[in-house]
Amino acid sequence: MKSRGVVTRVPGKVNLQLSVGPLGSDGFHEVTTVFQAITLFDDVTVSEGISGAGVSISITGQTAQGVPNDSSNLAIRAANLMIKEYELAPDLEIKLKKEIPVAGGMAGGSADAAGVIVGLDSLFNLGVSRADMEKFASQIGSDVPFALSGGVAIGTGRGDQITSALAKGSYTWVLALSSQGLSTPAVYQECDRLREGLSIASPQVSEPLMQALRAGDAKALGKSLLNDLQPAACSLRPALRLVLDVGIDYGALGGIVSGSGPTVAFLVADEDHAMDLAVALSSSGVVSSIARAIGPAQGARIIDSF
Ligand code: ATP
Repeated sequence: MKSRGVVTRVPGKVNLQLSVGPLGSDGFHEVTTVFQAITLFDDVTVSEGISGAGVSISITGQTAQGVPNDSSNLAIRAANLMIKEYELAPDLEIKLKKEIPVAGGMAGGSADAAGVIVGLDSLFNLGVSRADMEKFASQIGSDVPFALSGGVAIGTGRGDQITSALAKGSYTWVLALSSQGLSTPAVYQECDRLREGLSIASPQVSEPLMQALRAGDAKALGKSLLNDLQPAACSLRPALRLVLDVGIDYGALGGIVSGSGPTVAFLVADEDHAMDLAVALSSSGVVSSIARAIGPAQGARIIDSF
């Protein structure tokens, strides 16, 4: 008998703002971030597995290389949490088709976890409320709740307390990808090292950035992009400074390291500029590959069931 399954499409993200507060006594930093979901997607299929086989995973797609296929995979962690909470049959098959860069500061693993939550809710008609989905999501990682909602949202706390933001317009991005990822904890540690001895204020949402979003003003948005982790990512990977310089020289409205990097996201005026910048970045020899995307994109959504 053919098993039943659900396919969920989940977006990557860029952080338009990532403001990092002081290191708390719990070892975490309070952050204020503005997320925008973009049109780079992973497809997450969940289906009933073979009896007795437990949770299995297979990973394909352009960016599949290096993604773990053990219980450290965030999709498996999400499945195990849902199985326990809803007493589901423990035999599940997960298929990830990856397009979101891995360890690129675009929250691909978090997006996959969000896909499993939405997929299992639908496959087993669980009727999980949005609030409960978000609660599960934040147990897995601070970027997971945003992957559920998509669009444009403000994240506070550890970035997991999401409120959607008033935003107009759509934005064209050119993403300069690196072949080697950066570890998020290592970037935070470097940020702490660079800030040693400085007094760091509690993070606040940037008013000029919110105003640019409300007005749908790409030019103003380009000028307001802000990432407190950028100096740390550039310190660990000095080539990122070069990438940022090339992008700005070739007419990007703004450029920023996405999250903890090493992806650099450039906001451009339109598709023609995107093409020009992609060519300039490719021929500069400072980036390993380039992707183009539009934001905002929808959060985790079901695209097929069988
Ligand atoms: P973060 O959310 O920590 O900022 P990121 O966006 O930089 O991470 P991810 O693609 O989510 O990057 O991957 C970070 C690490 O998580 C990877 O190096 C990988 O070892 C692990 N990982 C676990 N599950 C997944 C998954 N489903 N897809 C990709 N990476 C995963």
